[in-house]
Amino acid sequence: MNASEQTTVTETKTTRSVCPYCGVGCGILIHSQGDRVVKVTGDREHPVNEGRLCTKGATCGIPLHEEGRLTDFCQRSDRSASWERTKADTALNAVAAQFTAIRAQHGPDALSMYLSGQLSTEAQYVANKLCKGFWGTNNVDSNSRLCMASAATGYKQSFGADAPEASYADIDQADTFFIIGSNMADCHPILFQRVLRRKKESGAKIIVVDPRRTATADKADLYLQIAPGTDLSLLNGLLKALICRDKIDDRFVAECTEGLEGTIQAVASYTPALVSEQTGLNIDEQNQLVDLLAASKGWMTFWTMGLNQSTRGTAHTSAICNLHLLTGQIGKPGAGPFSLTGQPNAMGGREMGYLAAGLPGQRAVISAEDRTLCEEIWGVEPGTIQPKPGAAAIELFERMRAGEVKAVWVIGTNPVASMPRSGRVIEALQQAECVVVQDAFSPTETSEYADFLLPGALWAETDGTMVNSERRVTRMQQAISAPGDAMADWQIICEVAKRMGYEGFDFESAEEVFNEIQLFANLETGYDLRGMSFSRLKEKSLMWPCPDSHSDGVEKRYGCGTQMRFPTASGRAQFIPTPYIPDPRDAALGTLTLNTGRYPHQWHTLTKTGRVSQLNQLNEKALLEVNPFDAEQLQIESGDRVTVSNSDGEFRMQVDVTDRVSPGQCYAPIHWNQLHGDGSSVNVATPSEADPKSLQPALKSAGVSLAVMEVAHAAVSAASDYDDGYAMGQQSLSFFRQKRSLLAIVRPISRISTLKS
Ligand code: SF4
Repeated sequence: MNASEQTTVTETKTTRSVCPYCGVGCGILIHSQGDRVVKVTGDREHPVNEGRLCTKGATCGIPLHEEGRLTDFCQRSDRSASWERTKADTALNAVAAQFTAIRAQHGPDALSMYLSGQLSTEAQYVANKLCKGFWGTNNVDSNSRLCMASAATGYKQSFGADAPEASYADIDQADTFFIIGSNMADCHPILFQRVLRRKKESGAKIIVVDPRRTATADKADLYLQIAPGTDLSLLNGLLKALICRDKIDDRFVAECTEGLEGTIQAVASYTPALVSEQTGLNIDEQNQLVDLLAASKGWMTFWTMGLNQSTRGTAHTSAICNLHLLTGQIGKPGAGPFSLTGQPNAMGGREMGYLAAGLPGQRAVISAEDRTLCEEIWGVEPGTIQPKPGAAAIELFERMRAGEVKAVWVIGTNPVASMPRSGRVIEALQQAECVVVQDAFSPTETSEYADFLLPGALWAETDGTMVNSERRVTRMQQAISAPGDAMADWQIICEVAKRMGYEGFDFESAEEVFNEIQLFANLETGYDLRGMSFSRLKEKSLMWPCPDSHSDGVEKRYGCGTQMRFPTASGRAQFIPTPYIPDPRDAALGTLTLNTGRYPHQWHTLTKTGRVSQLNQLNEKALLEVNPFDAEQLQIESGDRVTVSNSDGEFRMQVDVTDRVSPGQCYAPIHWNQLHGDGSSVNVATPSEADPKSLQPALKSAGVSLAVMEVAHAAVSAASDYDDGYAMGQQSLSFFRQKRSLLAIVRPISRISTLKS
């Protein structure tokens, strides 16, 4: 009897699944009674977490049964009207009719989709199939554009394909961890625990580079508080220093790479003095960094939003790859460049091609060969798939705002809260003729601008697969029924497709969708699920490449040592020159540079974690971190409320004076948005300037000014409250449980729309 079939005398069913939050991909066991999830625990047999969960994972069952679930199909005649519940058939027919009419009148590119890394791979696949293969538009993008697009693009230009070469197993053999632009302790806590375990057991060293002194930095052997946006200077200086110390792995470079000469020339000017001038890190700090990496036998680099959300995001990834290629710190145990993903299935979406230039199986619309293969599998006319990439997220909403894109179908994400310059996103939605929002909850910030609401089932209510940061596929198994008329996301998409008259969407189950996805195996990049099946995935998770049913997957995707072969034209990895060019915007920033990020106990725009009272007690509100020097200059104290503004917009937040941020910088969380009614949505003021290759916006570098709006009567101990929760990033669940019993229940989601029966 396996875990998903066990039934106890109390009629509790246990179902194996995967945590629906970050991209670490922890295995969970859902304990349910009837259609109610009574508890979620860590799956001890899952290799990622071996039973451990962070606070978010441990409470992930709670939102399933909280208020605000969208259980009905809804539509309204105009956007100022109340919602009317309709039969599923009525709403699906109406959505299909509107899309058909808009396509007929304005052409395929008048339609669009905006998807999510929280959807199952099966939903991401059928959405992309419908858009690119049947509507004939590549205007499908996703919230991964805001998160991981720079890592994906950097991997492609350095190694020939997206996704990491290494795996989590390397953590257990590394002797040094170089963490740059990632608050891993708070945002990928279970994986960071594994890093800490390695440190404790072997004395491995942790290096952290971050402008903000995070919980991750607190655990570092060497912490470098770099000036924001200057990472590329440091990485180039590091490459030069390692060359000077004769750390080139000559044999590996000769047999597995090309382009080193040009890169050596490109870093020639990065002397310690220049790097010091640009980054603010003194020469002694730089030397300590070089000493640690030069002495390391196996080092891993981890990075995420701090490097990706930048106008230099793609270059950051390639600069990291350069370091590993130069030193041969790749393709061997305990080594490798490893980008962390923010969402549970962002990797699956990237594999399905849910960014505007992609096609399933790590393929691209610009490749005639790739288009032909997809058209053959989908049974559509040759030439149906357009060769030009569609509009990426920023451009997509700008085209909508300009009236070119007439309809958008938003599935499982909340762009009004998460996109930069969100005021323009609202204007875009207001301009669109047809806005369809498919979500598990309502209202969201985005559903306020919709014509149709389609109720998607949540992870425990449907079957499917998710792919984590290390290419590991875990099956989500259905534990309970979806409430009301809610349906699996892939089913809703297929129902609309069928009503538009398209063939190829008559899947009976998620398993049938998965079986079709297997046809897209890409032997060039190693993306290969052919050895997987739903029955195998019921027993355990598997990594790709998985070519046959005897394989559990491959930890070292491109092979090892000098046998490594990369999916580039020459089979060799590419050194890419990555010059640091100061951003002209930096000089024009306002009083302070605003950095944005996450708290340990909340996730994204609070659609789910905002409904969990225990998490709200641990991170109950947004605080704007300001350095004591700036606070004195501005005459503000902890507890004061300030207006944070620039030419794009303004938000309001309570101040926390702390030296976690340097003078000239401030930091605010992204979680609390328009629904919370206090004007704390940071993305009204974040910039939409983007990396020119990945088109990922530079969400972490807004210039802002502060103005006091309300002086606290008595300074609050905001910093100490926050630090209390801060330590929780390292999973002290016993502390969490004590704290949970002490604190009052908070229900912060305000209801700004009502349903009419
Ligand atoms: Fe879930 Fe990520 Fe926490 Fe694991 S680390 S339990 S995947 S939120």
